[in-house]
Amino acid sequence: MDEEPERAKRWEGGYERTWEVLKEDESGSLKATVEDILFQAKRKRVFESHGQVRLGMMRHLYVVIDTSRTMEDQDLKPNRLTSTLKLIEFFVEEYFDQNPISQVGIITTKNKRAEKLTDLAGNPKKHVAALKKALDSTCVGEPSLYNSLTLAMQTLKHLPGHTSREVLIIFSSLTTCDPANIYELIKTLKSLKIRVSVIGLSAEVRVCTVLTRETGGSYHVILDESHFKELLMFHVKPPPASSSAECSLIRMGFPQHTMASLSDQEPRPAFSMAHLDSSSDPSLSLGGFFCPQCHAKYTELPVECRVCGLTLVSAPHLARSFHHLFPMNTFQEGPLQHGGERFCHACQGELKDKSVFTCPVCNSVFCVECDLFIHDTLHCCPSCIHSHSAP
Ligand SMILES: [Zn+2]
Ligand SMILES: [Zn+2]
Ligand SMILES: [Zn+2]
Repeated sequence: MDEEPERAKRWEGGYERTWEVLKEDESGSLKATVEDILFQAKRKRVFESHGQVRLGMMRHLYVVIDTSRTMEDQDLKPNRLTSTLKLIEFFVEEYFDQNPISQVGIITTKNKRAEKLTDLAGNPKKHVAALKKALDSTCVGEPSLYNSLTLAMQTLKHLPGHTSREVLIIFSSLTTCDPANIYELIKTLKSLKIRVSVIGLSAEVRVCTVLTRETGGSYHVILDESHFKELLMFHVKPPPASSSAECSLIRMGFPQHTMASLSDQEPRPAFSMAHLDSSSDPSLSLGGFFCPQCHAKYTELPVECRVCGLTLVSAPHLARSFHHLFPMNTFQEGPLQHGGERFCHACQGELKDKSVFTCPVCNSVFCVECDLFIHDTLHCCPSCIHSHSAP
């Protein structure tokens, strides 16, 4: 319980320091320091280990996108709306890559209203299509934090206790139009263990500070577009599960793609059960994934079986979220040795920086960029793999 205000304080400290660190170079530009801050922030995200904590692997996240008038501002190119929708599209792909058994839904808010762009679902395609379509929408009026949060809460509160309940708000406006007292709503969100985080596109807004602090989320204001992307990436990683979250074992099915009984005298094309959902077009096909429990057919994974409720995932997909549970070793940072390795083991570039990074297992040396790439994307040491596969 005491942990939450503490976290908020730490964030406030970090936020103030950002502005102390910003210095102009000789030409009066902030570019160099901003780039440095971004690089350091990225290293921090990649190497920040949760240690021995439980992670919420089954996540339910509503992304709320402000589509009010201020989204027409052109400080992000070509404007805030287009830039945001493109980044969210990227975010959704990354999210499902790293959280294959999780779900996302998207809510937009403008003109004092909130509406669902997509329902909570476990497949990126529908969200990406909806985001592309939203590029044509017009930005009008004021957003409503209250209505957006209420809409997200209506679904999230019914989800089982072993899953995470999260909301991420992309907030462009400096005002919100709320029909009732939002501080009462914040209390309700807190009691339902819904974690709300905000990424601000303009400046700090007090209500968001309170909202994120009370619900245990994070609050950041972007510096520029690459910082925006970096802040979104922060939300891709599964958050630590709250200590009060229930533990439970989850039954899962791992169906393989098979062609519908071609050995039969007459192969019959069939509809996918996912098309019971009115929003997608039904199409007949021969092949598909068959639920191992009830034999219902699906054309895409992951999906929750409509018939028997079993979670169906592909095994390789699930394996990709493994590195969250067993994070790879941090490489040792050390000075460049005279007479030691002169070239990075990964990119073969000459090691010019003062510091080099050494894998504690195979003792290979890497440059700072490769170190980051290996821990952020690859999740395994390229040199170790090589030595394992050698005869
Ligand atoms: Zn089933
Ligand atoms: Zn390198
Ligand atoms: Zn290694």
